[in-house]
Amino acid sequence: MTFPDLGLSDEVCKAISEAGYETATPIQQKSIPHVLMGKDLLGTAQTGTGKTAAFLLPMIDVMAQGRSKPRMPRALVLEPTRELAAQVADSFDMYTKYQKLSRALLIGGLGMKEQEAELDGTCDIIIATPGRLLDLFDRGRMMLSQIQFFVIDEADRMMDMGFMPDVERIVSCLPPRRQTLFFSATMPPSIRKLADKFLVEPREVEVAPPASPAATVEQHLTMLDERDKRDALRALINQENIRNALIFCNRKSDVKMLHKSMQKHGYDAVALHGDMDQLDRMATLEKFKTDQAKIMVCSDVAARGIDIQGLSHVFNFDVPFHAEDYIHRIGRTGRAGMKGRAFMLATAKESKALDAIQKLIGGNIKPMVIDGFGKKGAPAPAAAEAADGDEAPAPKRARRPRRTKAKDVAEETAADTAAPEATVTEPVEAGAPAEDATVAESAPAKPPRTRRAPRRKTAEAPAEVPADAAPEAEAAKAEGRSSGGRVPHGDGPDAGRPAGRSRPTPNRSGGRNRRDDNDNTPVGLGDHVPAFLLRPLRIPDESSDAA
Ligand code: AMP
Repeated sequence: MTFPDLGLSDEVCKAISEAGYETATPIQQKSIPHVLMGKDLLGTAQTGTGKTAAFLLPMIDVMAQGRSKPRMPRALVLEPTRELAAQVADSFDMYTKYQKLSRALLIGGLGMKEQEAELDGTCDIIIATPGRLLDLFDRGRMMLSQIQFFVIDEADRMMDMGFMPDVERIVSCLPPRRQTLFFSATMPPSIRKLADKFLVEPREVEVAPPASPAATVEQHLTMLDERDKRDALRALINQENIRNALIFCNRKSDVKMLHKSMQKHGYDAVALHGDMDQLDRMATLEKFKTDQAKIMVCSDVAARGIDIQGLSHVFNFDVPFHAEDYIHRIGRTGRAGMKGRAFMLATAKESKALDAIQKLIGGNIKPMVIDGFGKKGAPAPAAAEAADGDEAPAPKRARRPRRTKAKDVAEETAADTAAPEATVTEPVEAGAPAEDATVAESAPAKPPRTRRAPRRKTAEAPAEVPADAAPEAEAAKAEGRSSGGRVPHGDGPDAGRPAGRSRPTPNRSGGRNRRDDNDNTPVGLGDHVPAFLLRPLRIPDESSDAA
């Protein structure tokens, strides 16, 4: 079916034809007529199916009929990540080439001032991440009372990232008479319940069954020893005919290390992960998208929705912790009907995660041997694994970072928690810099130690921090707080007290906190009798009083 058949305007059809779109994709065929008729829409569709055009094209045609007033946008698109929002904004620019419609892109990590300026003029559509939108709304930079179209994209991802309270607040600021378009890659009951809340008599459209990898992606699996992974990856890259490739790692620290290693071996590689600031992230992505770098080593921050034209290869340097992430990772290739190749390097220790993926995709990934490495599809022998002192410990799901007032940080941090990055194998000392906690969590590949934290004698030395405090150190780092100013959370003895001024640890009880030693809380004054009570009483003489 062609785009004019769907009832789209000549201007839109001309713009998309110049973009190389000839026929509408299934999600476009199913959605566009409903949106043009003013219906709410509930769409189950993954990225890569053409769903951005499915909601933007009809919205553009309807909006082209009217005009916005200053600071009163008529459409709002919410995206879970900055990259996705930027990508939707790019698509909007492309599709409105022959129309006079303007947009504002409101995402964290970029200057507030420029975004405020964008809102000061006339802006027809806002494309935003929830945190930054609320920041600007709370500053009174825009009114949402004229919103005619409201799009929630990647609702399941939005929920995973803890944005739903923000989304609900945004919805409460929108006029009830509006058209809502709700898209999600998966539709579990929790998402459907939300959809019921936001949508009125929606039309439902679905394209690919959830969690099915594109048929255009050829998948391969190599089992090998952890210590062989880097060499095997390079051998694989050398033997494949690569146009451009993403290499996914589970942890940010591994992204950094592998990137360095690739550069050292002469590969034209860049890195993308959640510790980078937004400008760096955008510059890196641009470099990769414009073929200035052939390889991008990345964390799952790049797994969802990022659209890289004609990406030829995806390498999973690690088996992703969550099976769905595999679908999203390999979905970066084989897009728009092109062929793509995906490879996974797995160790026997990753077999549980691998099983989950194979169960999700409903079949085994084709085993392959990389010359000189591993065995054909067989897990590496347990003995070899045990001997491999470099194996990283089994990952533990990171605690979701606490929402902070700095929504930018929350968006950024949350974006990366989709892939757990923190694994702590031993307690870290609170006095150590936050960076140390990261090092502890990502330390390459040492077996868990059972060393006890040394006792400290100084009053400044805080007690051990439980292992699960590390994500807070990470969050604190993301917020730019130094460890010296770390404020312990919770209701412990040091809650709310800066680390540098933490409660002195009594040494008389062997460096442990006295509270831990003795459950008998003293009654009244306990053993301590204040000095004024021990002073002898001087009772005034009655006769002298009378005198
Ligand atoms: P999306 O699912 O919206 O992220 O789109 C994935 C990719 O498909 C983007 O690069 C779009 O530009 C492209 N695309 C969307 N619709 C079409 C179409 N009808 N024909 C060809 N490419 C398309």
